[in-house]
Amino acid sequence: MSTFKAPKGTYDLIPPVSVKYLAVREAISGPLRNSGYGYIETPGFEDVGLFARGVGESTDIVSKEMYAFETKGGDQLALRPEGTASVLRAALEASLHKQGNLPVKLWYSGSYYRYERPQKGRYRHFSQVGAEAIGAEDPALDAELIILADQAYRSLGLRNFRILLNSLGDKECRPVYREALQGFLRGLDLDAETIRRAEINPLRVLDDKRADVQKQLVGAPMLRDYLCDACKAYHEEVRALITAAGVAFEDDEKLVRGLDYYTRTTFEFVHDGLGSQSAVGGGGRYDGLSEMIGGPALPSVGWALGVDRTVLALEAEGVELDIPAATSVFAVALGEEARRVLFGKVTELRRAGIAADFSYGGKGLKGAMKDANRSGARFAVVAGERDLAEGVVQLKDMEAGEQSPVALADLVDEVRARLA
Ligand code: AMP
Repeated sequence: MSTFKAPKGTYDLIPPVSVKYLAVREAISGPLRNSGYGYIETPGFEDVGLFARGVGESTDIVSKEMYAFETKGGDQLALRPEGTASVLRAALEASLHKQGNLPVKLWYSGSYYRYERPQKGRYRHFSQVGAEAIGAEDPALDAELIILADQAYRSLGLRNFRILLNSLGDKECRPVYREALQGFLRGLDLDAETIRRAEINPLRVLDDKRADVQKQLVGAPMLRDYLCDACKAYHEEVRALITAAGVAFEDDEKLVRGLDYYTRTTFEFVHDGLGSQSAVGGGGRYDGLSEMIGGPALPSVGWALGVDRTVLALEAEGVELDIPAATSVFAVALGEEARRVLFGKVTELRRAGIAADFSYGGKGLKGAMKDANRSGARFAVVAGERDLAEGVVQLKDMEAGEQSPVALADLVDEVRARLA
């Protein structure tokens, strides 16, 4: 072991488990790539003000969990705690919204950082795959994103997840509701921090997980009763489109989520096998965010799905992903001349698109065959001086346990034919 360890709240992705993370990223991004979303990559850090303004000063993410620092040059930066603000910043900077075809649809995959209290499913470094549809107010777009996330989870074989859906209203109706809620909250017996939160962002008090707070919230005014007609009609259309697609969801009028920029549609994907960190993904509409970070009005919607928690959800459901063995052919050479020839054959196999590996380190037959077994390869190719003198190699089918000589010149074709 080295004297160093992965920092608290982080972990390394290592084989064989790491292949699951790749498969999850692939499964989530697949439906997006198939639906007009283009790939975007932004820096791992940004001007700290982008998150303070975009995500919200009063949110836990910004006020408690951000890795903010000053550079040697005096810039105030922060490791990105989430993806949406960066993606919107990049789209605005590149004027993607001025190129005529709105919405601009983008997807991303990357690492995010929050200084959280680590526990299972909650880390200081985690990864998300996300999607943003920028510059259109259309309930079909909200529905599209929810349907694509559902498709992604299902393609992985997940079944025990639920979709929670709510509308947070818009700049017409939310302020009226906010005031009504604040009036109600002022009459409760709350601790100082919660009272402060009630003044800055009262909706987030509804999200408080503590039982004594939840008990007091019975009878609180509900946003549903304050939605303006436009918001109501919009939400009904989103619901109808998702329902028509056969995607089940639950109305959750308490769902507000921890970021300030959401308006209208908000949703969360929860998995029932994960205990307290049950949210595997979430998102919603953020019609005001562009203006909050200095851009034009660009109503948008997006989501981010957590890769770490999706892997935990797969484990909770006992889903085994169908991941093909990384290596198809493992070459075992006995003697110097055989080494040179077989190494050449491995290169040839790889260039033909066949996954191949080689026994390195000058091992004997027994040790090398152990490596072949461990690699999960379907075939081992074994050759010594005598085989080469006859112009053949021994091709061993590791599943059937049978071995037969194959002419050296025919090896690539033979392997290809047998793999097919
Ligand atoms: P959020 O940006 O908070 O809406 O998070 C979206 C998704 O990212 C969540 O549903 C989780 O799956 C994942 N996520 C957020 N924070 C963490 C964390 N600290 N550790 C692991 N996954 C996280």
